[in-house]
Amino acid sequence: MVQQFQQAHAADPSADAHSEIREEVAKLCARFPDPYWRALDAVRGYPTEFVAALTEAGYLAALIPEAYGGAGLGLSAAAAILETIHASGCNGAACHAQMYIMGAILRHGSEAQKSHYLPRIAAGELRLQAFGVTEPGSGTDTTALRTTARREGDRYIVNGQKIWTSRAEHSDLMLLLARTTPRDQVAKKTEGLSTLIVDMRDARDHGLTIRPIRTMMNHNSCEVFFDNLEVPAENLVGAEGAGFRIILDGMNAERLLIGAECIGDAKWFIARSTDYARTREVFGRPIGQNQGIQFPIARAYAQMRAAELLVREGILRFESGLACGAEANMAKMLAAEASWAAGEATIQTFGGFGFAEEYDIERKFRETRLYQVAPVSTNLILSYVAEHVLGLPRSY
Ligand SMILES: Cc1cc2nc3c(=O)[nH]c(=O)nc-3n(C[C@H](O)[C@H](O)[C@H](O)COP(=O)(O)OP(=O)(O)OC[C@H]3O[C@@H](n4cnc5c(N)ncnc54)[C@H](O)[C@@H]3O)c2cc1C
Repeated sequence: MVQQFQQAHAADPSADAHSEIREEVAKLCARFPDPYWRALDAVRGYPTEFVAALTEAGYLAALIPEAYGGAGLGLSAAAAILETIHASGCNGAACHAQMYIMGAILRHGSEAQKSHYLPRIAAGELRLQAFGVTEPGSGTDTTALRTTARREGDRYIVNGQKIWTSRAEHSDLMLLLARTTPRDQVAKKTEGLSTLIVDMRDARDHGLTIRPIRTMMNHNSCEVFFDNLEVPAENLVGAEGAGFRIILDGMNAERLLIGAECIGDAKWFIARSTDYARTREVFGRPIGQNQGIQFPIARAYAQMRAAELLVREGILRFESGLACGAEANMAKMLAAEASWAAGEATIQTFGGFGFAEEYDIERKFRETRLYQVAPVSTNLILSYVAEHVLGLPRSY
C-alpha cells in the first residue's frame, strides 16, 4: 500500500493527486462503521483495532522518510489521510499526533535518535502518540510551565505535572517540554526549555503516574505526574534550551492537519444532513424542500469550501518551504468553525433524532467542538493574526 502512495505521489504532486490514498483510506475506514465508534464512546475506550489497521497500512508513517522505513510523503498526503478518516465518520484523534510529533525527532534529533526511533515508529513497534506541553498552572502561556528537568550526570531528573496529555496511556513514548534552566536565569522566557523523549514503558511506577481525565468526548486525555523521573541525557532532542523553538517548529504542520480533520468532519455532517433532509418527510414533503433547512446546510458547505481552500494554500506553502504561519493558523480556525457550523446545521436538520446516540450526530458534534480550543484556541489564533499579519500591538 505504501508503494501505491509513492507511485501516486510521484505521478502528480498536487493536492488532488491523493485520490487513490483517499479511496484506500475510505475502504479501511468502512471496516470501522458507526457502531464501532459508538460503543467505544460509551466506555471512553481506545480504538486499538483501528489504530493497528492504520499502522499496518503505513498511514501513520506517511511523513517518515523512506530512509527510516516510512512512506516519505508530503503534508498534503497526510492531510488527505486524516481528512478521509474524518469524512468517513472515524476519528483520527486517537493517533494523529504520531504523524507530526515525530517531526521533532526528524528535524532536530541526532542521527542516533533518528535511526533508533523512526524505523520502529514506522513499523508500529513503538508508538509516539503523547505530547506533554500543557500544564494546569500555565495553560496557553507555555513559557510559564513549571515542569523541570535537572541534569545530573548522564540523566535528567524530571519533576512536575502535565495536563491534557492525550493518548498517554496508549503510547510508548512522550515528547516532553520541560524547563532545564530556571526562568530567572535566562534572558528571554522562551529560552531554557528543552524537549526530551520519555520512554513511558520504563517510567510508569518509577516516577511517572498517568491519570485519565473523563471528557465530554472520547479523547483518551490524561494528567501526567513526574516525581523524580530519570530520563537518560541521550533522550534530549536538539540542543538543551532550544525546546520552545522545536515545539513551535512543528505547529504549522499540526494546525494544517487538524484543519484537514475538521474539513473531513464538516463533509461528514453535510453528507448526513443532506441525506436526511432528502428522505425525512414532514407535512407530506421532504424537510429538505424547506429553505429553512437548506440554508444552514448550504452556508456550512460554503464555509467548509472556503476553509478547505485555505488549508490547501497553507499545505502548498508548507510543502514549498514558504512561511505558512498565518495560513496554518487561519486555516485551522476557519476549518474548526466550519465543522462546528456543519454540526449545528446537522443537529437542527435531524431534530430530535440529532440527540439520539444511535444516529451518531451528537457524538460527532461533541468531537468536533474540541478543535476551537485545542491544540490552540481561537483567541490565540486571532491574536496571532492581529499581531503578526496586521501589525497591531502585542496584547500579551
Ligand atoms: C481534549 C484535549 C486534548 C488535548 N491534548 C493535548 C495534548 O496532547 N498535549 C498538550 O500539551 N496539550 C493538549 N491539550 C491542551 C490544549 O492545547 C489547551 O487546552 C489549549 O491550548 C487551551 O489552553 P488552556 O486549556 O490551558 O486554556 P487557558 O490558557 O487557560 O485559556 C482559557 C481561555 O482563555 C483564553 N485566553 C488565554 N489567554 C488569552 C489572551 N491573551 N487573549 C485572549 N484570550 C486568551 C483562551 O483562548 C481560552 O479560551 C488538549 C486539550 C484538550 C481539551
